[in-house]
Amino acid sequence: LPLPRADIALIGLAVMGQNLILNMNDHGFVVCAFNRTVSKVDDFLANEAKGTKVIGAHSLEEMVSKLKKPRRIILLVKAGSAVDDFINKLVPLLETGDIIIDGGNSEYRDTTRRCKELLQKGLLFVGSGVSGGEEGARYGPSLMPGGSKEAWPHIKTIFQSIAAKVGSGEPCCDWVGEEGAGHFVKMVHNGIEYGDMQLICEAYHLMKDVVGMDHDEMSQVFEEWNNTELDSFLIEITANILKFKDKDGKYLLPKIRDSAGQKGTGKWTAISALEYGVPVTLIGEAVFARCLSSLKDERVQASKLLNGPKLTQFSGNKKAFLEDIRKALYASKIISYAQGFMLLRQAAKEFGWTLNYGGIALMWRGGCIIRSVFLGKIKDAFDRNPELQNLLLDDFFKTAVEKCQDSWRHVISTGVQHGIPMPCFTTALSFYDGYRHEVLPANLIQAQRDYFGAHTYELLSKPGVFIHTNWTGHG
Ligand code: NAP
Repeated sequence: LPLPRADIALIGLAVMGQNLILNMNDHGFVVCAFNRTVSKVDDFLANEAKGTKVIGAHSLEEMVSKLKKPRRIILLVKAGSAVDDFINKLVPLLETGDIIIDGGNSEYRDTTRRCKELLQKGLLFVGSGVSGGEEGARYGPSLMPGGSKEAWPHIKTIFQSIAAKVGSGEPCCDWVGEEGAGHFVKMVHNGIEYGDMQLICEAYHLMKDVVGMDHDEMSQVFEEWNNTELDSFLIEITANILKFKDKDGKYLLPKIRDSAGQKGTGKWTAISALEYGVPVTLIGEAVFARCLSSLKDERVQASKLLNGPKLTQFSGNKKAFLEDIRKALYASKIISYAQGFMLLRQAAKEFGWTLNYGGIALMWRGGCIIRSVFLGKIKDAFDRNPELQNLLLDDFFKTAVEKCQDSWRHVISTGVQHGIPMPCFTTALSFYDGYRHEVLPANLIQAQRDYFGAHTYELLSKPGVFIHTNWTGHG
């Protein structure tokens, strides 16, 4: 028998799998390809993988026999039962210490369950977030692996070689944490992506409907913003989208139906936030903004019946107001990431995970949709203080928000007066104002709860002692 020579196997020859194989091949790893519909293996070897070192297998047994030990197998198949099906078929073929990696968009709870089940069988399981789509998979994705940590030394070199690189070649991939942590972090990444996109939409709305700018002008502003703290992939593509013209020479953007779709990862982030009691308000509002946008027909009706404020012509200094919008966007973005990391921190507490927060910021720094220079600042903040309670308490971000504060408030009040919906700008500011208040009016909530439901309350002077008052003097 020939000696096993494949460094790793990959199951799932759809877009993501094929590109990830070619990426691994580029970095000198021998990959064995397999797919449920086996004919796709030969197709792949004869076409996309022609002239590479990629080898194929026509059965799982053959695939396993071609792998060096400990065996490393990546699944890039449809999330859900397909992953369990393959795991169940692989288990009898594998030996203690072999590693199964799920690179699909699995739900983090499934990953935690699979991790535990496989550990009982002596196998190591890794659930890795993979971000950056087709292009990322081919030339450098952001990779967020979590699960059985004993697997990490065996996959680290492959993962970090194929991942996106930033700065002086730092890979956008590091060990995230235990169990489903990698997929949890990927979910939060997607939620933050929803927030970033909605914030940009609110800035665009203000430019378009308050300032009255045309597309080329708006595109120019986003291009300029891309040379500031806002330097990021999403700002860059927004500049390109705004100036893009259709075949008829007219701008394409205003022709696009204003009804946003969603696949659910933003929703899952918001659900987790509610579940673990973390005020991740901005992502929640971003999800709801998409829901409201999708009520297009209803909005068309309502627009004929419901009046807003009398539209006044914008009378301020345009250049100064644009800078105000930029600062409002930046401050709101800081809040969104602060909230996202609050959710990660709470999940870590909930599940007993030790998360590498600075590493997570670095993983998102390149290769994925939310990639930005800003994430480097977050990495720096966690490098300065790995125990940082909240991003807003870091000196850099505290000062950044303070510098934006006046502009932020001015933009929101102007937008409100013009009747522009700004769910994410406003919720970010409300969060900031709530978080920085020593005293909130929740004393009244406690009194009301005790009044109608005898739920009891604590006195500021006696924390931990719960008392009930007979508020009506009878009964
Ligand atoms: P996909 O369309 O999600 O899945 C297709 C692959 O899954 C094929 O190899 C297919 O095999 C296999 N498959 C489907 N149902 C199966 C079943 N019941 N049993 C066994 N195999 C089954 O492919 P993809 O877009 O490349 O994505 C792969 C994974 O990466 C998914 O979890 C996806 O969510 C995630 N992801 C995708 C992107 C992206 O941009 N597309 C980005 C990040 C992550 P057959 O050829 O036999 O049908």
